[in-house]
Amino acid sequence: MWTIGAGARVGALQSLLPLEPLENRILACHALGITRIGLITQSERVLSAPEAGALAALVERRLAGEPIAYIVGRREFYGLDFAVNPAVLIPRPDTELLVELALERLPVRGRMLDMGTGSGAIAVAVAHTRPDAGVTALDVSAAALEVARTNAQANRAAVRFVQSDWFGAIAAESFDLIVANPPYIADGDVHLAQGDLRFEPVGALTDHADGLSALRTIVAGAPHHLAAAGWLLMEHGYDQAAQVRALLAEGGYREVQSWRDLAGIERVSGARIGDAI
Ligand code: GLN
Repeated sequence: MWTIGAGARVGALQSLLPLEPLENRILACHALGITRIGLITQSERVLSAPEAGALAALVERRLAGEPIAYIVGRREFYGLDFAVNPAVLIPRPDTELLVELALERLPVRGRMLDMGTGSGAIAVAVAHTRPDAGVTALDVSAAALEVARTNAQANRAAVRFVQSDWFGAIAAESFDLIVANPPYIADGDVHLAQGDLRFEPVGALTDHADGLSALRTIVAGAPHHLAAAGWLLMEHGYDQAAQVRALLAEGGYREVQSWRDLAGIERVSGARIGDAI
C-alpha cells in the first residue's frame, strides 16, 4: 500500500509521488481540487491528513493499473472536455482523424450518424464544430448513452441519441455521412490483457470474433441508410486497412480509401455509396 504523510508540501509532491511526472501532476491536482497553476502558487501549503489519504488512494489505484482517465473521470478529445467512466472507451487521439475526415465531408446542414458512440466523443466533436449539422449517435449500451448525453450537454452540442444495436432501431432514416469507431480487436488479442484496455468495456473493444464482424455489419447496412453519394468512414485496427477496403469494394462502394493517423498507420477507411446500391 503506497502512502504519503500529512504535512508533505504541495511543492514537493512531484518528487514524492511514484508515477510519471504528468500523472503525478494530474492526480495531485485532482486530490487537492486545484489546477496545475495551483500546484505552483500553493507550493508551500502542506497536505492535511484527509488530503494525503485521498491522494494516496488515487496513486494506489493508478499503481494497480487503472487508467488515469477513469480515476479522474475526464479526458480531453478534439479540444473538448469529456466525462468518462468504465461504461465507455476512453477517447483516443487517433480518433481525431475520423472527426477531421467527417468534418471535411459533411455537407451544410448535413445529417451524420455515429454508430457505437460510447462517450459521444465523435458525435459531440462534430456537432460542437458544426452547429448546422444534424447529428445522431447510437449505442447499444444505456450506460454509455448516459455518459454521451452528459458530454453533449456540457459541450453544448446538439446530438440526438438513440439506443440501438447497430442499425436495429434506425428504421428507414438516411444520412449524408455514417461514421463508426466500432469494437475491432480480435478475440484473444494480447492487447486486451494489457494496459488501459484491461479496464475498458470489453464490448467496446472486441467483437469476440475475428475483429471484423462489427465492421462487416456496418459496411453491409450503411447503403440502406446513406443518401446519394454519402460517405461511410470507419476507424479500424492498425493491420485491418486492406481487409476493410476489400469489404467496401465487395459491398459495391466507390472511392474506397484509407487514411493514416499521426503515427503513420492506416487508421480510418471509407468510401462513398456506389450508384448501383
Ligand atoms: N483503438 C483502441 C485500441 O486499440 C481500440 C478501440 C476500438 O476497438 N474501437 O486501444
